[in-house]
Amino acid sequence: MKVNLVDKGASRYVVGNVERFDQKNEMFNRPLWEPKMMDLGRKFNEEEVMPRDEPGYRLQDKALVNAAWHLEHSFAKGVDGGKMGLYAWEWHGFASTPRVPSGLRITVDDPMKVTRAIKKVATLFGASLVGVCELDRRWLYSYAYFTYGEDSEPVEKIEIPDEYAYAIVIAIEMDYKAIRYSPANPAAGATGVGYSKMAFSAGLLAEYIRGLGYQAIPCGNDTACSIPIAIDAGLGELAKSGLLITSEFGPRVRLAKVFTDLPLVPDRPIEFGVWDFCMRCEKCAENCPSGAIMYGELTEKPNNISNREGLLRWPINAEKCLAFWAANGTDCCNCIRVCPFNKPSGWLHDMVRWGVKNVRWLNPFFVRMDDLFGYGKEVNADRFWGE
Ligand code: SF4
Ligand code: SF4
Repeated sequence: MKVNLVDKGASRYVVGNVERFDQKNEMFNRPLWEPKMMDLGRKFNEEEVMPRDEPGYRLQDKALVNAAWHLEHSFAKGVDGGKMGLYAWEWHGFASTPRVPSGLRITVDDPMKVTRAIKKVATLFGASLVGVCELDRRWLYSYAYFTYGEDSEPVEKIEIPDEYAYAIVIAIEMDYKAIRYSPANPAAGATGVGYSKMAFSAGLLAEYIRGLGYQAIPCGNDTACSIPIAIDAGLGELAKSGLLITSEFGPRVRLAKVFTDLPLVPDRPIEFGVWDFCMRCEKCAENCPSGAIMYGELTEKPNNISNREGLLRWPINAEKCLAFWAANGTDCCNCIRVCPFNKPSGWLHDMVRWGVKNVRWLNPFFVRMDDLFGYGKEVNADRFWGE
């Protein structure tokens, strides 16, 4: 679908002073230092979850999730602060093939040609979508919070030198069928695969850029907020669910980024009717088992310290969300599963996407039809193994 190009990226949601976000306030980190969250943290992070005789929660389901996360947990740790393994900020000397002698560098006469090449390479390395923007430093975390390594300081000021002027954003599509089982484990398996692929794609792309003689910092959820940078890079729009909605896969993506000094040509931010559609649709709020997603009007008022100030949107209550994940024994993707933008491409779905962009007064009708067709309903997770 042809999208509208617009001038403002994530700035379109800014209504006040936006401070850089301190990663210790991210919901997964708060239980490690905030007394009132520690019980919840113990439940989510530390307690072993016994499989139970219920579709989607058996041993084979749990094994699937653990295996899906293996590459991220063992070789990247982007959810634990990053800056190691595939997310190392510099070449770490593990390459088995001969490296190029140091000091060699490509000459960039035509940044557009280099940008096309970068996108081609990122796609080869597994990216489903790739966008480029100038790096807006408001979206960098102020401090990193590392949850791995016993000897390292958990907190580190984030300083990205000015020459890292560009961000390359990689979106990884998650499996449509597996997401239908949310909140059961096969959907969490699709999430885990997404995280492992993020590390694979971003880590390899960073290494490619270093091979050209330039610097590259790959990151997953660490180092900077991914969604505003993805919006700046023209990958999608912010939605009521707090997620990025892409025109190709809706919210069914995971995001990684690579910061670089390689001269590139930024993409333009896009718009294709998400904001207006969310005004008419409450499906993510209705199907959120924890009540973490707001109904009604936009607000700039944060729910708690996991939201940043200065942004007009629908802030998510991450405390409620994590409480459900802990009770569920695995993570949840209901807000992705039920979103009308989640569907795979096909003539009917593409036609509705066109309508959402171009005939906005029909949005209530599109929402109603989505319900009538029964899209987004949870599927019995035993079907995952039988399909
Ligand atoms: S992940 Fe689940 S609990 Fe959290 S906001 Fe989305 S639907 Fe709600
Ligand atoms: S489910 Fe509806 S309201 Fe929620 S993000 Fe998707 S389109 Fe927006």
